[in-house]
Amino acid sequence: MAPRSQDYYAVLDVKKTASPEEIKQAYRRLAKVHHPDLQPESQKASAAEKFKELNEAYEVLSHPEKRAAYDRYGPDGAPGASAPEPPPRARSARPGAGDEEPDFSGFSDFFQNLYGAQDSGASARRPRPGPRRGQDVEAELPLTLEDAVRGGEKSLTLDVPALCPSCSGSGRRGAGFCPVCAGVGEIARPRTITARLPAAVREGARLRLRGQGAAASGGGDPGDLYLRIRFLPHPRFKVSGADLETDVTVMPWIAALGGEASLQTLEGPLRVKIPAGTHAGRVLRVAAKGLPADGGRRGDLLAAVRIDIPDRADARLERLFQEMKEAAS
Ligand SMILES: [Zn+2]
Repeated sequence: MAPRSQDYYAVLDVKKTASPEEIKQAYRRLAKVHHPDLQPESQKASAAEKFKELNEAYEVLSHPEKRAAYDRYGPDGAPGASAPEPPPRARSARPGAGDEEPDFSGFSDFFQNLYGAQDSGASARRPRPGPRRGQDVEAELPLTLEDAVRGGEKSLTLDVPALCPSCSGSGRRGAGFCPVCAGVGEIARPRTITARLPAAVREGARLRLRGQGAAASGGGDPGDLYLRIRFLPHPRFKVSGADLETDVTVMPWIAALGGEASLQTLEGPLRVKIPAGTHAGRVLRVAAKGLPADGGRRGDLLAAVRIDIPDRADARLERLFQEMKEAAS
């Protein structure tokens, strides 16, 4: 096994003059790249080694006194460099450890980034003493517009941080880091989650699934899972609040004389009335064919008229167009 690099600045790929924020960002970026959970099976061992190296470097460089000692005396003079303390997440998971170490939010931030969380609530970011609640986790719930109209339940499989079974979340095994989670105390576990869609399904709406977030160490309650609804692009419909926008193709003689046209809705085709004298671009509003809205209502479907000609005009149709041309000029 290669000896670990003792040049902590090189390990984190930062300058000697890097600010604490730069160090933290470099660490997070690299931790995400080298996290053993994210590597194929064959590379997990070497990634874990690299991850430990990162943790060791961060442990020293993120601590003002340890960093100062390291700058002055090198790695041997840095207390804790040869026998690194557990990394921040594992340590702050101990009850009561949080208040003295407000800066050690690196790992929870790291997991928030990893799982796409943006605003997981204050409890995830501001550690309080006492049994620690598991982290809130935020993820996207991708929905087709058809799903949104159908309603009911939607299942998806997510990687949710779970306590590392090997070290029970402490991050330590014996005198060193836990090799399974590389000292993080958590590993990502796929979990299938079933969410009941709300009556009004809106892009960006957050569903809260109580107790479905990350497990807690030390007997705390699990965090919550927030699912943020995201509509998948639809080839035919554009979402505008609860309304849907689309277009409807109308033949020239129907546009001029009035009649019917076929309009696609999320629930299949619908015949709609085209008033006489309809111009291209006119928007027809079909009530209650949009997305589910508050109070059990539905948004509308707005269809912009496109005037088109038939793919193939037979001789008679061509003659009639000719006549129209002459009559209109
Ligand atoms: Zn572990």
